[in-house]
Amino acid sequence: MQRHGLHSKSLLQLTLALIKPDAVAHPLILQAVHQRILDNNFIILMRKYLKWSQEESRRFYAEHSDKFFYQRVVQFMASGPMRAYILAHEDAITHWRQLMGPTRVFRARYSAPLSIRGELGLTDTRNTTHGSDSPESAAREISFFFPDFQQQRWLSSEEKLYRQGHYYYHPEQQVHLLRDPQPLLVRGH
Ligand code: ADP
Ligand code: MG
Repeated sequence: MQRHGLHSKSLLQLTLALIKPDAVAHPLILQAVHQRILDNNFIILMRKYLKWSQEESRRFYAEHSDKFFYQRVVQFMASGPMRAYILAHEDAITHWRQLMGPTRVFRARYSAPLSIRGELGLTDTRNTTHGSDSPESAAREISFFFPDFQQQRWLSSEEKLYRQGHYYYHPEQQVHLLRDPQPLLVRGH
C-alpha cells in the first residue's frame, strides 16, 4: 500500500514493540515478524537488540507481580536476547496489538490464526511479541528502552514529515529514515 502523504489526516502515534526471546532465537521467525511490521506499513524509528537481567524483567512486569504467571514471564523475558522497536503509525498502539493477536497463544490459534501470536507463538508465556497497551504505557516503555529518544521533540518536528511520506527504508539499518533534502522545502516556486 502506498502512503499518500497529503491525504493523511491523523497524527502518527508511537508505540513500543518487542520481539521476545522465543522469536529472536530463531532467525527465520525473527525475520518473519520484522517483515510483518513492514508489510503492515509501520514506520520503524528505532530498533535495537538487548538482553534483560532478571531484575529488569521483574521491573518491567511489576504490574503482574501478583499473577500466577509472573515468575514464568520474568524468567522467560530474561532468558535470551530480544529486539525492541519504536513504531509509528496512525493509531499505532491498537493497530500493533491487533496484528499481535490475543495474549494467550492457545486461544489466538483459534480466534486469530493469522495474527503474529496465532501463527508464530509457542505458549501462553512465550508469545513472540509485546506491545504497549495505552498512550501512557507507550511513553513509559519507549523511555525504558530508548532513554535518548525525545518523544515530544519527535512529535513536534519529524512527525509531520513522516506523516507526509518523506521517508525511505534503509535495509541495512532496518529502520525508516527521513529523506534528505526535504522535498517540502523546494516546493512552491
Ligand atoms: P500482553 O502482553 O498481551 O499485554 P499481559 O500484559 O496481560 O499481556 O501479560 C504480559 C505477558 O505475560 C504476556 O505477554 C505473556 O508473555 C505472559 N502471560 C500473560 N498471561 C498469561 C497466562 N495466562 N499464562 C502464561 N503467561 C501469561
Ligand atoms: Mg501487557
